Amino acid sequence: MKNEASLREQNLFCTMRNHNITLHRMNISQCDVPEVSVSHSSLEVHEGDNAVVTCNGSGSPLPDVDWTVSHLHSISTHQTNVNWTNVHSINLTLVNVSGEDNGSNVTCIAENVVGMTKTTVSLNIYYPPRILSLREPVVHLEHCIEFTVRGNPYPVLTWYHNDQPLRPVDFIRQEVYKQDTSMEGCLLFNKPTHYYNGNYTLIARNKFGIANQTVYAHFLEQPYPGELTYFPLADLGISPTPPISVTHKPEEDTFGVSIAVGLAAFACVLLVVLFIVINKYGRRSKFGMKGPVAVISGEEDSASPLHHINHGITTPNSLDAGPDTVVIGMTRIPVIENPQYFRQGHNCHKPDTYVQYIKKRDIILKRELGEGAFGKVFLAECYNLSPTKDKMLVAVKALKDPTMAARKDFQREAELLTNLQHDHIVKFYGVCGDGDPLIMVFEYMKHGDLNKFLRAHGPDAMILVDGQPRQTKGDLGLSQMLHIAIQIASGMVYLASQHFVHRDLATRNCLVGANLLVKIGDFGMSRDVYSTDYYRVGGHTMLPIRWMPPESIMYRKFTTESDVWSFGVILWEIFTYGKQPWFQLSNTEVIECITQGRVLERPRVVPKEIYDIMLGCWQREPQLRLNIKEIYKILQALGKASPIYLDILG
Ligand code: ADP
Repeated sequence: MKNEASLREQNLFCTMRNHNITLHRMNISQCDVPEVSVSHSSLEVHEGDNAVVTCNGSGSPLPDVDWTVSHLHSISTHQTNVNWTNVHSINLTLVNVSGEDNGSNVTCIAENVVGMTKTTVSLNIYYPPRILSLREPVVHLEHCIEFTVRGNPYPVLTWYHNDQPLRPVDFIRQEVYKQDTSMEGCLLFNKPTHYYNGNYTLIARNKFGIANQTVYAHFLEQPYPGELTYFPLADLGISPTPPISVTHKPEEDTFGVSIAVGLAAFACVLLVVLFIVINKYGRRSKFGMKGPVAVISGEEDSASPLHHINHGITTPNSLDAGPDTVVIGMTRIPVIENPQYFRQGHNCHKPDTYVQYIKKRDIILKRELGEGAFGKVFLAECYNLSPTKDKMLVAVKALKDPTMAARKDFQREAELLTNLQHDHIVKFYGVCGDGDPLIMVFEYMKHGDLNKFLRAHGPDAMILVDGQPRQTKGDLGLSQMLHIAIQIASGMVYLASQHFVHRDLATRNCLVGANLLVKIGDFGMSRDVYSTDYYRVGGHTMLPIRWMPPESIMYRKFTTESDVWSFGVILWEIFTYGKQPWFQLSNTEVIECITQGRVLERPRVVPKEIYDIMLGCWQREPQLRLNIKEIYKILQALGKASPIYLDILG
């Protein structure tokens, strides 16, 4: 008897006429629990094929044997019984196996009067991918296109957006949860813009086949309906602004060739005339934008590679025949007005400006402070500058080997700088114009530019002590950061009141003096030291795209509102201890991000109130942005509030 040992262990007995007989000594025939075995513990089969699995049941009495298959979806089963003397076999034939039953078990049960024994066979059914669902985006915490996919082996998933492969970027990611035999997941979007509207196609692929399905996703309305489509990104490095556009209207192409040639020649002459006019009057000062000129969008100031282009505004409408377009025969040339002069109705240049001249012999150079686009910057001692002091420290910017054009710019710049006087604009003392080099004299700000200063006072800053790198003590605190921001905002309120558009506001262009005094200090472009902060377009022009709003990138439109955008980026720089905005992205990726409407993430240490200001600066519509006076007031109020009231954790 098979159970003798266990009966002995259990110490069971039977009482017969006051006589106990232990159960294991009793001889009971025909009393075995059935045993069961199967031909496969796991059945591997391709969808559509047939498969046979055998179950053997043995025991005394001989058990009945049966397969339970009722839960299987689409499998037609077929059972055949074979009875041997002490084994009962039953074959289960699965016909036209369906992938639906992948992962299921079939159970074989052997049962007699003594008991029941069972065993299972798992089904591993290979089948091509099937997309069970693909839904329009829903918003949980983020926007998500939900999907459910099946297939064995698990399919590999790829996505297409409007038939283009969806590139992996850090604001789109896929999350997949594998549950038994299906994959459920989400294509997640972090703050998607209208750029991401369109068809999303999911392709699921394994070695047995491929499936695809498409869903339309609408995230946001296009902010400027009917605007020019964005410049193709691949072209951005070559021609970001429509160049002087000589456009043919197709319906007019039926004109005779000779007329076309004649008109084209006339257009060329006109272009040359315009070009001369622009070169004569259209040069923009290094110091912001000014000048009573109309300029052609995209035309470059070739005489002065150090300076910005005078691009001005180009709007979609300006490409239609209208007041901003010169139409010559079949040729349309968009003429773009200088926004500073025409829009704001003011010109910083005052003809009666008196620029102070300093004698060369009164300047004694001490050491080099840095190098900018203009030339070298030196620390110097200057005599006879202050009525109260015999000599004082100054910073001098030297322009070496100036051309005639550069001399004119220099003079204009000096007049402009003389007129801009404010506590938070670096003080300009005058020029030293006798001979070469041309020199501009500024107040000396002993801690140099704000970007370096922030980096030197951040958590990653190191100093060398006895040749060994050591962590610096004393990161800037919240109130010091606010103090810096307030001072720059104050300088900007002044610039705006003067209708002055800076176009290159960034921490690298601010200077730090004693007692954390901060001033807007540079109105040129410090491209040598900070060359990676600028993006070269069309060969010469360097643009600080990481600080520029979409309209400046797309249309070269620079206004007081675009300066406000840059101020938002300055705030971000301050609160990241001088990190480069979008440091993880290449220039073309940055252009893509900004034009799509993405904004910089909230830095870890930024209080919510301050990130809200940044967001207010980064409104896509310029007129919806905070105005610099409001920003200044909010910052002042925050500066007065004790830092503990600022919502650091948001
Ligand atoms: P540019 O106007 O020619 O581009 P910058 O103003 O950027 O030149 O000057 C280059 C560097 O010289 C700055 O990064 C800064 O370190 C130093 N510098 C410029 N002006 C001053 C100043 N007034 N006081 C102290 N350092 C200065």
